[in-house]
Amino acid sequence: MNGISENAMPTLKTFEALPAGLLEADATALEALLGGPSLIHLPGRRPEPLFLTVLLHGNETTGFEAVKAVLRRWQGRELPRALSLFIGNVAAARAGLRRLPGQPDYNRVWPGTETPGLPEAMLMAGVVEHMKRRRPFASIDIHNNTGINPHYACLVRLEPSFLHLARLFSRIAVKFERPLGVQATALAGLCPAVTVECGKIGIQSGVAHTAEFIEAALHLDHYPQHAVAARDLEVLQTVAIVKVPPEASFSFDGSAADFRFRGDLDHLNFREMQPGAAFGHLAAASAARLLVVPGGPMPLQGDYFAYADGEIRLTRPVVPAMLTTDPLAVRNDCLCYLMERIGI
Ligand SMILES: [Zn+2]
Repeated sequence: MNGISENAMPTLKTFEALPAGLLEADATALEALLGGPSLIHLPGRRPEPLFLTVLLHGNETTGFEAVKAVLRRWQGRELPRALSLFIGNVAAARAGLRRLPGQPDYNRVWPGTETPGLPEAMLMAGVVEHMKRRRPFASIDIHNNTGINPHYACLVRLEPSFLHLARLFSRIAVKFERPLGVQATALAGLCPAVTVECGKIGIQSGVAHTAEFIEAALHLDHYPQHAVAARDLEVLQTVAIVKVPPEASFSFDGSAADFRFRGDLDHLNFREMQPGAAFGHLAAASAARLLVVPGGPMPLQGDYFAYADGEIRLTRPVVPAMLTTDPLAVRNDCLCYLMERIGI
């Protein structure tokens, strides 16, 4: 079916109450129900809202499912805190895709983006302006990933309030600076903000854990003054983002390609990798190299991979995250992030 929305300019819809049918809707039905990206404000006992963002990537449904579960529990009762919910790429959600062909990535177009002139970037800037006036208490942007990863929170600041919010979700947090134009970076100017990565799509335990986290954040009265203990939260810093060059081919099943990656590559996520650890093989005739770009505050120094004897091996100790064996995720986003442990 050809989508009528594919070339339509998105305009922000705002609601001051729960739209009828929202709690019964699937993510695929939201475009028809809401008419576009939507910002929904719900009142609560404490007026500074918890700001939740879901479906910036249209196929990542765990956040929306978790929000519905929480709101169903509170139906007919006053929420402990006001809640503002932004539902992002409903057009891609209808198709079950991260984004539609021709659309930008909805988590790369927030203030600070490299593409501020895009209509989607103006829409997100409008969302931030709306939220600024409401003085949010916390911001949580909810995502899934495709490889085998633990649940973890990502943040841009190591201030105690940010760390406490991250710790409510997981014992693992990742500090990042790039990519640019991410929701959590834009909202960090207004309130403690995290992105949460809730594992693979469609896993019920992921929805349940995310709903518990939202519930805990709704009940949080204030941020503790004391620092988060280092034993309670492991913090990693993203240092590099690894991409496959667009002109290179790759496989995970050993079939002929420039890069023949290990089929179990995503099992390496969040493991301490040592120099020499193998990612796979490079075709004998291929001059292709993985693109390694800065993911942190520092420019990269030296190489992360060596290609001697057709073997792709790490040249330094790192902890990978979001390694995936999903070809579409590799093409649309990246092969992985590389991180190092840091103290808090
Ligand atoms: Zn995502």
